[in-house]
Amino acid sequence: MVLRSLTQGPLVVASHNKGKVREIEALLSQYGLAIKTASELDLPEPEETGLTFEDNAALKALAAAQTSGLPALADDSGLVVDALDGDPGIYSARWAGPDKDFSLAMRNIEEKLAQAGALSADARSARFVAVLCLAWPDGHVEFFRGEVEGTMVWPPRGKAGFGYDPVFQPEGFDVTFGEMTSEEKHGWTHGDDAALSHRSRAFKLFATACLKPKAS
Ligand code: IMP
Repeated sequence: MVLRSLTQGPLVVASHNKGKVREIEALLSQYGLAIKTASELDLPEPEETGLTFEDNAALKALAAAQTSGLPALADDSGLVVDALDGDPGIYSARWAGPDKDFSLAMRNIEEKLAQAGALSADARSARFVAVLCLAWPDGHVEFFRGEVEGTMVWPPRGKAGFGYDPVFQPEGFDVTFGEMTSEEKHGWTHGDDAALSHRSRAFKLFATACLKPKAS
């Protein structure tokens, strides 16, 4: 695989999800790269018809790169719950319905965990997965995957973050992502160069391969 570097941008952040865009912009901030978002460019939101995180990330990144004529970075991500055979997985956004009601989606997961008798922490293992796809207008694509293991908790705790953050407690912590500041969720306060969230782990691979830190 030939890795292409991104030197100055602009780079399109190919997502309409405000929570994701906020996190990706924060992760990109140390690289001094000009950024445009899908909403700023009024890019259409393609239907996610793929069957894997990689398929859907590529579909979004390629659509944005080809429409804008610029390199584009898309994230496809989700929550994979072992006791639910990997659900909601690539359908994590869809479980919240057209109103994007994540209280409902979190309750739905909890009900299914209860039906499966998954009460102990061991039975409630889960991971967040993020696949970043960087696409160029000529169709070249590269993928970077990050995962973070954890446990599903109930009731939801914390108001920070977005989506399923209040019910996911990452391994080694006694707080949920919903109870962490965004810096803590990225892993920036947990020690040198650590990356914690699935997105910051994927981002670290992307940054190492394709970006140069801005000169200080
Ligand atoms: P998609 O990648 O646009 O299909 O949406 C992924 C969905 O997974 C989001 O809408 C969230 O519900 C969920 N998700 C992905 N990453 C996170 C995260 O960092 N915290 C909480 N929920 C997330």
